[in-house]
Amino acid sequence: MRVAILRLGHRKKRDERLTTHVGLVARAFGANEIIISGERDATPINTIKKVTKKWGGPFKASFEANWKKVVRGAKKKGAILVHLTMYGEPLLDKIDEIRKVARKKDLLVMAGAEKVPGQIFLVANYNIAVTSQPHSEAAAVAVFLHELFEGREMKKTFRGAKLTIQPQARGKRVKAKE
Ligand code: SAM
Repeated sequence: MRVAILRLGHRKKRDERLTTHVGLVARAFGANEIIISGERDATPINTIKKVTKKWGGPFKASFEANWKKVVRGAKKKGAILVHLTMYGEPLLDKIDEIRKVARKKDLLVMAGAEKVPGQIFLVANYNIAVTSQPHSEAAAVAVFLHELFEGREMKKTFRGAKLTIQPQARGKRVKAKE
């Protein structure tokens, strides 16, 4: 299973930090890539790439102005489209089904900025709510991936890392690759 996150409607400056966070969350919680759509902006992509270089991957970050192209490409390859929205069906009612489908198919998980185009609700195979309350795209992506992978993403190892944290109860211990 490959999981790609499509960040919809990025607005340069206004969403710079949050889009970067969506990318970092996607990487840390086991997705394979993020595609950023909306206003062209190299900053989040560069930051995500820098983090991947330092802390390991593989994780791909790219920009595509036209979200329809990403959706069409994913559909053509037989991927399942999941749209994260507070208006959707409860995550816990649908995650077992999505996990089952995702054993054989790739997933494209879409998360918006301010307001997503109405077509997204129609094109998605699943409109999924991570609670029916408004919150954050970064939180929605994190909780969705955590449920999808049933917590196994916490043990993921990242290849080619220059730095690895040695977990401990207090203080910071970081191992640098020679
Ligand atoms: N009222 C807006 C809407 O859904 O059209 C909320 C926008 S919110 C600031 C930005 C993104 O966060 C949404 O497009 C959605 O992907 C995600 N999000 C926010 N709350 C969510 C929830 N409860 N469940 C799933 N996704 C959520």
